Amino acid sequence: MTITVDLATLGHRIRHFRTARGLTLGALGAQVGAAPSQLSLIENGKREPRLSLLTDIAARLGIEVADLLVDEAPDRRSRLELEVARLQAGQLYASLGLPTVKPTSGTPDETLAALVGLHEELQRRARLAIATPEEARRANNQLRDVLQAENNYLGFIEDLAEETVAKTGHTGGALTHREVTVMAEQLGFKLVYVDDLPHSARSVTDLANGRIYLPPASIPGGHGLRSMALQAMAHRLLGHERPDDYADFLRQRLEINYFAAACLMPQRDAVAFLQRAKADRDLSIEDFRDSFGTTHESAALRFTNLATQHLGIRMHFLRVGDDGALQKGYENDGLPLPTDATGAIEGQLVCRNWSARTAFTHTNRTTEFYQYTDTPAGTFWCATQTGSTDSGGFSITVGVPFDEAKWFRGRETTVRAVSRCPDESCCRRPAADLEARWGGNAWPSARLHAHILAPLPSGSFPGVDDSEVYAFLDQHATSD
Ligand SMILES: [Zn+2]
Repeated sequence: MTITVDLATLGHRIRHFRTARGLTLGALGAQVGAAPSQLSLIENGKREPRLSLLTDIAARLGIEVADLLVDEAPDRRSRLELEVARLQAGQLYASLGLPTVKPTSGTPDETLAALVGLHEELQRRARLAIATPEEARRANNQLRDVLQAENNYLGFIEDLAEETVAKTGHTGGALTHREVTVMAEQLGFKLVYVDDLPHSARSVTDLANGRIYLPPASIPGGHGLRSMALQAMAHRLLGHERPDDYADFLRQRLEINYFAAACLMPQRDAVAFLQRAKADRDLSIEDFRDSFGTTHESAALRFTNLATQHLGIRMHFLRVGDDGALQKGYENDGLPLPTDATGAIEGQLVCRNWSARTAFTHTNRTTEFYQYTDTPAGTFWCATQTGSTDSGGFSITVGVPFDEAKWFRGRETTVRAVSRCPDESCCRRPAADLEARWGGNAWPSARLHAHILAPLPSGSFPGVDDSEVYAFLDQHATSD
């Protein structure tokens, strides 16, 4: 019979019970017929004891063999020593080319605790410094799968937002700037607007002095500013700890965004508004947006939270750049979103015939563009609104399966398109005549996309430059 227990742990357990009984190596050795040097090697995890010897040792120590074979350090000191040995044996530590520390009986517990703490922090930072965009994408894909299974509805955040908003004295409709300030005060924070925020941070919270620093209010009462303040508060309200890995970081980002949206478009009022519109067969993101004074994208995203849970409507949401690449997407209605080999949708080109792209070709862009699209997964009705930023145009699409179009304004549109994607003959392959004319004679140089999920620099907070943040806080805490 071979022993499968970790030898280092076994050695620590033998030593623990031996010293607890006041026995020296020599004394125990004499009783079990083993040399002290042999027992020492066993206690140090350097030699595997025969089972007969182990049985004798247990008998002499007045315990069961099973007590020795428990795969758990017998006390705190042993746990620290085992941890130090285990962490030093890892690849991460080996890659640093530093010497191995061997704890002796004279090494203080604090020294070992400090070593373990440093090793763990080193590992945490290594996990945060995502090695490749692929890993970041994988974490993102997993999160999207989880959300899709929940129909993009997070009840615990809805409840928290409802409760927190009610405490500000809010009575209905959109949350006002004043109410956001009151919410901050109730949490013990003052909102401070500054124009020298560190480049890498959207907001900075000073936990010591109870302040949330935000960018200057360039658009008075702007929706973006209220949202940012709410996101900063959400970290506190949701009890976020420093993210452990990239997946954790993404999850926290999602939760604070969700919380802000759930405050700015509170569930009760938003659902009442949408249910009325559905009853009138006049649902539109446009109206939802205007009624809550938010952006088209925020309204569309909020609709994804509430549509299935409260209106029983399955749907999809797309944000597509004017280059045709999907920037954000969500579906629980079966629309076949383009994916790469890892299952990621971000950065993938959507079908040229979808309204998310055909909307760009329309001249009247002040209102939503409506279209029915036949796909291999059925017919969908979509409403697309285009917009633009400094970095180019984009479109926001909310769509539903054909049967659900009856609840929406724009269902009477006569625009109809056919999409056979992902079949490449749909819109990916050049037309035969053009292929004949230009095949072999074209040499384009690709424009590199700023990756949506690029690796983040490591630090105690992903993507943020600590030194900048601390210098900023230091300056503000002492100057005002
Ligand atoms: Zn296509």
